Amino acid sequence: MPPAPAILGDASSLAEGLASGLRLGVFLTILIVMAGWEWLHPRRPLSAAKPARWLTHLLLTFLNSAALRICLPLTVLGAALWAEQRSWGLLHQISLPASVETVISFVLLDLAIYGQHVASHHVPLLWRIHLVHHADLDIDVTTGFRFHTVEILISAVFKVLVVVLLGAPAASVLLFEIVLNGAAMFNHSNINLPQPIDRMLRWMLVTPDMHRVHHSVLRHETDSNFGFNLPWWDYLFRTYRPQPELGHEGMTIGLPDLRNEQEVDRLPGLLMLPLRSLARRHHRPATDAGRPEHPPEP
Ligand SMILES: [Zn+2]
Repeated sequence: MPPAPAILGDASSLAEGLASGLRLGVFLTILIVMAGWEWLHPRRPLSAAKPARWLTHLLLTFLNSAALRICLPLTVLGAALWAEQRSWGLLHQISLPASVETVISFVLLDLAIYGQHVASHHVPLLWRIHLVHHADLDIDVTTGFRFHTVEILISAVFKVLVVVLLGAPAASVLLFEIVLNGAAMFNHSNINLPQPIDRMLRWMLVTPDMHRVHHSVLRHETDSNFGFNLPWWDYLFRTYRPQPELGHEGMTIGLPDLRNEQEVDRLPGLLMLPLRSLARRHHRPATDAGRPEHPPEP
């Protein structure tokens, strides 16, 4: 009979194998549904060449998954299983019903991701990596997975730390990861949701119109609507902006000083953006002249 740790190891790898199959299935389903919806009823006309941009984003996604496998010994789900086996983390010290633990973990993980996103905009070094996401000249479903490889690695390490400290149950971590990926693809989509539905959804979910404001070229709009799943943190911490000043058709997407399609929407130029921005001091303007520093309340 194999020793217990080997059994646990086998169970963990089986769970991780099933989880990655599930994640891939959900990813492809949402990608196909949202791409079809964007194609039938686009919210805005795209300005950059779509096939080349999509190819860049898909290649980047493959590169990012490979980097995660090679560079990190533990996935976020693996970390949750590891902590569960050792009863590490806050939630493993108190006994709560599984459903309550799932909800608490989901909400707190979402708050942590909101905090990480705010930090990515305000810590200069993190911004130089995160600007790769914002340098996209258009916003559509594929922008939802356009992140620099270094940002993906930093984000995974951050999530591992939060999951272990919190003692989040593995099932809720898996649920959170799937919902986060799905929500990111949904809220970056170039779709036209009827306004009453958009308004209703904003009680519970970040909608595409809400997140598009965050991809505006105007800094005070870029520094708003940081949520990916739940919109509540933007309401609570006063980072909410309901609509772009110039409207969804009139607004410009991207960053003011990164407008060259060959540079920002192609590999490997995209991967070099953080270094290039360092060398050429590419950055956002300190603030938009005459713009209010603080967004209005919801
Ligand atoms: Zn951002």
